[in-house]
Order: sequence, then structure tokens, then C-alpha cells
Amino acid sequence: MRAAVCREFGAPLSIEEVMLGEPQSGEVRVAVKACGLCQSDLHYLAGAWGGKLPAIYGHEVAGIVDAVGSGVKGLGPGDRVVVSMVRWCGRCFFCVKGQPALCEAIFRLDEATPIHDMAGQPIVQGTRAAGFAESVLVHASQAVSISDDIPFESACLIGCAVMTGFGAVLNTAKVQAGDSVVVIGTGGVGLNAVQAALLAGASPLIALDINAHKLKVAAAFGASDCIESDSAAEDEVRRRTSGRGADSVIVTAGAGLAVEQALRMARRGGTVVVVGMPGSGATSRLDPAQFSHDGQRIIGSKLGSGQPAVDVRRFLSLYRERRIKLDELVSHCFGLDQINDAIDSAGRGEVIRSVMVFRG
Ligand SMILES: [Zn+2]
Ligand SMILES: [Zn+2]
Repeated sequence: MRAAVCREFGAPLSIEEVMLGEPQSGEVRVAVKACGLCQSDLHYLAGAWGGKLPAIYGHEVAGIVDAVGSGVKGLGPGDRVVVSMVRWCGRCFFCVKGQPALCEAIFRLDEATPIHDMAGQPIVQGTRAAGFAESVLVHASQAVSISDDIPFESACLIGCAVMTGFGAVLNTAKVQAGDSVVVIGTGGVGLNAVQAALLAGASPLIALDINAHKLKVAAAFGASDCIESDSAAEDEVRRRTSGRGADSVIVTAGAGLAVEQALRMARRGGTVVVVGMPGSGATSRLDPAQFSHDGQRIIGSKLGSGQPAVDVRRFLSLYRERRIKLDELVSHCFGLDQINDAIDSAGRGEVIRSVMVFRG
């Protein structure tokens, strides 16, 4: 199969023929129809989190199951699915607690990559999917069936951006109707946090970004107030929240300073949810006395802290009822051969979300 291989961080990907193994017990192979280009992929490709090379990234996959290993229940060839990074066993401490994104089990695919180049050298299965390729081999727990009424290029975004943005607001912050909410960063995850907060009845619903174009898009996704992230932003948030600060601040921007800013924007007793992941080594400063005095909470949210099998169905019914926007998230589609152009344009902040599309 053809794939976009990262052989050097920060360098263009090389489009190569590579070999993918057969599904073993509990695994499925999926013919990729669409794969989103997520901010985390850009971070990985730039080397922000290190890791071994060569590797294939891409973790927002939608496609069609074409082979299943032994013991796979409820999925078979021909099924349309969304694939996420949440690989979970259903039995460990975290899975039993209902936190599959934190599953501690080690899977065969965590220990041995199923991908090799034509010289027989292993290629790392980046982000537990390696979706910038014509097929992926994943654990069956990563694949969730979807109905026929959603195009693959919209469905793929459910696998990360939608799940993460909605989950941060609904599962982690548990936003209630009438809560004031600030979303810092209006990329793919941020826009989904905005539409989740709208669905929950947040008011005001304030979006913050350094990019004026992205703020316009955030308004179209339901933000009531759009503020350019500059030195006056904290005062602006206070002014629009009766001088108190917001009930919840969702940090989707991957920057340590954004977390510090969020703590100053949250009200006393308010909640800051940290979703965005900066490069390794980034830190945020915290004044423990102030933090304690103000009785605030900071909560990390991994992939929306939800249950993919449940959440995906929920997103699909909301999509069908036109209560959430998925098609509108996709601003650019590229073929695999154009992936380096896609990476360049996403890096320049010109797109809402780019999706790699595989025809045939
Ligand atoms: Zn588990
Ligand atoms: Zn992602």
C-alpha cells in the first residue's frame, strides 16, 4: 500500500510503497477513505514530542473494514467505521472505571509495528493508527461503526477533534445551561468545544484566538463573543462575565502560557480544563496560594475523557438532527500525493480542518 512516511522531523514526508501485516486476534484492518490532519500530527511531524523514525502519523481515520482477526465481535468486512487512538481492553482498572482513554493494557500493536518498508525495515505506527496510508491495522476497540448517512471526510474528524472538543466541555468541565464559558484556541478541537458549549446552553460563550479569521469561524460555530488574544483579553473576559471571570475555561491551545491565562480568566471556584498539548518540556506557572484562595480546579482531558463507542453514536444522531456541524469543519481536502502542501497550509493557519481523501 502507499503511505506518507516521516523519515526526518521537519522534512517533507516521502510517499512510499510499504507493507502492512494481516490482522491478528482482536484486530481489524480498515481501508482508509479519509484521514484528518490534526494539530497533534503537525506537532509530531515537527519533532515536538520526539519519538522513533521512520514513522507514519495520522489518527483521525474513517474507512471500511476489509479484514478481521479471530475473536472480533460486532465488526466485519464492509462495515463503515471511525478509528480513534483509544485502544482499550475493557478489563483494567481504568477501563472498569469508565476511563478507556487511560487504559493501561499493553497490546501486541504497542510492542510490534505491523508496518515495514520494502527493504523489510520496521516503520513506527504513529499515534496508534498510522492513518496517512491506504490502510490501517488497529485493535478492534479503536474502531466504531458509523451509519451510511455521513461522508467519510466529515466522519473522520469524530475520531479526534470532535470527540476531544465535545468531551472537554461535556464530560470534563460538565458545562451546564447558563454557564459562562471561554474557549482558548479555535482550531479543530476548539471549534468543537465551542459547538459543545453552545449545545449545553453556555452564555456567554467566549472564543479567544490570535487569528482573526479563526475567530470569524468560531462565531459561525456559535461563539457569542470573539476576542483577539492580546494583553487586553483578560479584562475583556471579566467585563463580559459580570467582573467575576468565567465558570469554565477550556484551553485547547497547546501553550503553557494559555493555562496561566485561563486561571486568570476563570472565576473563583471556576474550572480550567487543559486539552491542548504543547511540545515536551513546556511548563505553566501556578501561584498555589492564589489557586487555593480562589478555590479553582484544573482538570486534564485526554481525548475528551469519554467512551468512544457511546460518544460516536451520540455525535451521529446530533449530526443527523443538524444540531452539530461536521461537514462545515472540513475546509480543504487533499490527496495523499499532496500531503506536504496540506501540512504547509495547516501550519500557516489558513484552514479550518484539512482532510486527506482516498478515492477508489
Ligand atoms: Zn483497559
Ligand atoms: Zn488529534
